[in-house]
Amino acid sequence: MFASALRVSALAFNHYSTGVIPMSSVERVYSYSAVLMGSPILLKLFEDNQQAAQAVFHLIKQQEDMLTVNRAHSQLMTINHAAGLHPVVVSRPVFELISKAKTVSLMQDSCFNFTIGPLVKRWKIGFHGDTVPSPAEIQSLLPLTRPDQVMLDPQACSVYLAQAGMEIDLGAIAKGYIADRVRDLLQQMGIHQALINLGGNVLTLGTPRYGDQSAWGVGLKKPFAAPDALIGIIEVAGKSVVTSGIYERYFEQEGKIYHHILDPETGYPLDNELLSVTVISDDSVDGDIYTTLLYGMGVKKALHYLTTVPHIEAIFVTRTGQVILSSQRQFRFTLQDSDYQLA
Ligand code: AMP
Ligand code: MG
Repeated sequence: MFASALRVSALAFNHYSTGVIPMSSVERVYSYSAVLMGSPILLKLFEDNQQAAQAVFHLIKQQEDMLTVNRAHSQLMTINHAAGLHPVVVSRPVFELISKAKTVSLMQDSCFNFTIGPLVKRWKIGFHGDTVPSPAEIQSLLPLTRPDQVMLDPQACSVYLAQAGMEIDLGAIAKGYIADRVRDLLQQMGIHQALINLGGNVLTLGTPRYGDQSAWGVGLKKPFAAPDALIGIIEVAGKSVVTSGIYERYFEQEGKIYHHILDPETGYPLDNELLSVTVISDDSVDGDIYTTLLYGMGVKKALHYLTTVPHIEAIFVTRTGQVILSSQRQFRFTLQDSDYQLA
């Protein structure tokens, strides 16, 4: 999530990160890494371009500073601090992102809810002090998670949270949004073959230059296994690959796992047959939104829903070891782990 500062910008040759598999290594790959948004960030280029890498990390840092809710100050925190008091004028990009998050949150039966902040803060899942709240606490926080009570004024470019105690949390969408901004920047700099991995949100530009390979190989992580264990490989070119999984951030209490994707209806972690949902799309912000939306639908409803949005494709991993693909128009998938079967 959003925390910590820019640490390093390191250069390495032919170095590959967890979750990203080289198809071969004939070309030199230059990998630059940093820890931002509380996650390892990796940039791969086919030329040594320290300046581009610095510009990318600078951009991510800038965006994080605007959107974080894990520090006292950011544009988002200014809105949250003014809940129930007054509207806050924000930059146009922040306003547009909030508008998008509100629209998705208000969709019928949407389990995406960007006003989930009070519950996220209380659960603290994956952070020091995470505990199961009492049912009474959950009931007292649920009325503060009302997307319809976020008042947007496009003319003034302002956001007002109508009730004191409300909090916007863009944790489910920010990395995707930022990944898209990184792609824009790389393209402006004339870089059209690259890969950026924002702690699990992978965005590829063009094709790699590994020999004659026409696709990047992105690993699909094996849930609750070693960090580099993979279920299989997703091959894509010029696409975003985003995964939301219940194994990413969780804690265990009395043998039960409490993970970080909350059900806005109940206030508890979403509980269904899924371990993870991966979305393949053009834009990473869509991938980030749809992983949450589809997660909440469960496999059957999600597969049906996806027939209406052809530009979005998904891979579902279930608790019973099934890997289910909605379709395979924009990617190829190769299963590698015998604990899982293609359904
Ligand atoms: P992601 O890693 O994209 O699946 O996003 C997970 C993060 O989204 C959590 O850590 C929370 O900050 C936030 N979040 C949790 N539940 C929801 C929800 N139902 N709708 C929107 N955001 C959520
Ligand atoms: Mg997401």
